[in-house]
Amino acid sequence: MNIHEYQAKALLRSYGCPVSDGRVVLRAEDAKTAAGGLDGPLWVVKAQIHAGGRGKGSFKEPEAGLKGGVRLARSVEEAEVLTKQMLGRTLVTHQTGPAGKQVNRIYIEDGSDIARELYLALLVDRGSSRVSFVVSTEGGMDIEEVAAKTPEKIISFSVDPASGLSDFHGRRVAFALGLEGAQVKQCVALVKNLYRAFIEKDMEMLEINPLIVMTDGNLKVLDAKVGFDNNALYRQPDIMALRDETEEDPKELAANGHHQALRRRTRQLPRRGRWRQQGKGHRGVQDHHFRPEREGHPRQHLRRHHALRHHRRGRDFGGERGGPQGAAGGAA
Ligand code: GDP
Ligand code: MG
Repeated sequence: MNIHEYQAKALLRSYGCPVSDGRVVLRAEDAKTAAGGLDGPLWVVKAQIHAGGRGKGSFKEPEAGLKGGVRLARSVEEAEVLTKQMLGRTLVTHQTGPAGKQVNRIYIEDGSDIARELYLALLVDRGSSRVSFVVSTEGGMDIEEVAAKTPEKIISFSVDPASGLSDFHGRRVAFALGLEGAQVKQCVALVKNLYRAFIEKDMEMLEINPLIVMTDGNLKVLDAKVGFDNNALYRQPDIMALRDETEEDPKELAANGHHQALRRRTRQLPRRGRWRQQGKGHRGVQDHHFRPEREGHPRQHLRRHHALRHHRRGRDFGGERGGPQGAAGGAA
């Protein structure tokens, strides 16, 4: 499950990470008050959709000449105008697909003065189940693009869960990002806080792109994209409450609905049949907590299929086995 940037930032703020002050706006008439509550003299008006690449995205509606879902404003009035232009429109980015996503929420943020844009992400490495850090000096760009063109500019390492995270990891990140002096200490603290948030909230992915060095030398989380492990959501009610179903892929939602229907149905099934019913082979259904290890051989349903086929053949084509008794005998 994903959440919006403003929700991710509120979460990271609660973990002591440096983020800008901001206000979320659902109705255009609230934009002025929201922007007026921030210091200025620079505001950032950011479309909230569950997709990256907003800054370089474009709106489907040709009018208003809007350029991108992340815009800088020099006044409260300008922030209001930009909010009005974006709300209700459809933003297309390289991550939304050609259909784009309707913008129903705007985040107005206190603008920062940027000296450098960096990249920092934490992810679960599926193979080893370890948390990996991915770090690059090439922030503000798509990491896939960096990986394709200048792979040497991406550094990654994983954390040994036995010894856990230490200052060493933070210093490693700082070194990879070319940070100096007080920034190193800030980076060590940031890495610790991000890691704690990641573990405690059962995140699957936490991407900060960009992490910036401001012109005053301090670090700030300027953009944040967070995904959670769906299988752990049952123990994260505060995260569940952040769900925005209007943002979810219809396929994903259908899978969830499908999943619930499956849960309901499988409760009444005899144990042997469960494994197959629980959706293995159905895309998007992945709830491994739901399948106790002891429930038989994973391929046992194939044997059941065979029995069924024999049974049908017997009845429809007059085969030797003939009838349900033959099938029952074959399955035994
Ligand atoms: P994304 O395009 O969806 O990844 O949205 P981001 O939040 O990453 O913003 C895109 C770009 O807008 C960043 O890489 C920055 O270059 C720029 N940007 C975002 N916030 C600010 C800000 O506070 N000040 C300035 N000067 N630029 C910003
Ligand atoms: Mg970004």
